[in-house]
Amino acid sequence: QNFGPTDLNEVVTRTMRLIQNDMPASVELAVELDLRLPRAEGDAEQLKQVLINLVQNAVQALGAQPGRITVRTEKPERFADFRSAPGEFVEVRVSDTGPGIPADQQPHIFVPFFTTKQKGTGLGLAICQRIVKNHGGGISVQSKVGEGTVFIIRLPALPSEP
Ligand code: ADP
Ligand code: MG
Repeated sequence: QNFGPTDLNEVVTRTMRLIQNDMPASVELAVELDLRLPRAEGDAEQLKQVLINLVQNAVQALGAQPGRITVRTEKPERFADFRSAPGEFVEVRVSDTGPGIPADQQPHIFVPFFTTKQKGTGLGLAICQRIVKNHGGGISVQSKVGEGTVFIIRLPALPSEP
């Protein structure tokens, strides 16, 4: 473990540069960075692993279908007036235009060994959740069959520098 003040925009940029060569040509990978993003206390290597797992799942969900994966950082607007108020957080959203996750499966996807894949381990999301919780944050999913899936990582933000 190597925690420290971490710029998630930098983690996203580095991670996407690392994996973009492995993207199938049918996948359009988009990155949208919120340049006002405060830093978060975190381990960049572990957070990189989270992003790799989520993008890999998105690629597998798209399969041969052409589609788009978007990785987006965001400082939710709600607390914009309370610059160093406790409870401030940063988000990274990984969304795909894949088949979506049926509502009855969504409660199970973070459970270790839950997989719907022939050769899946079912460990990717369990590891993501463990890492994010270890950062004092949370991970959630919003998905609709036929529309796509969004994974939302939320981490406590460090107070912005004056
Ligand atoms: P694995 O990838 O080995 O199956 P994961 O823990 O990474 O294990 O994912 C668990 C399950 O969650 C997957 O098998 C799949 O059913 C579902 N899932 C995860 N990400 C997505 C996604 N982006 N789109 C659709 N289904 C997903
Ligand atoms: Mg996986």
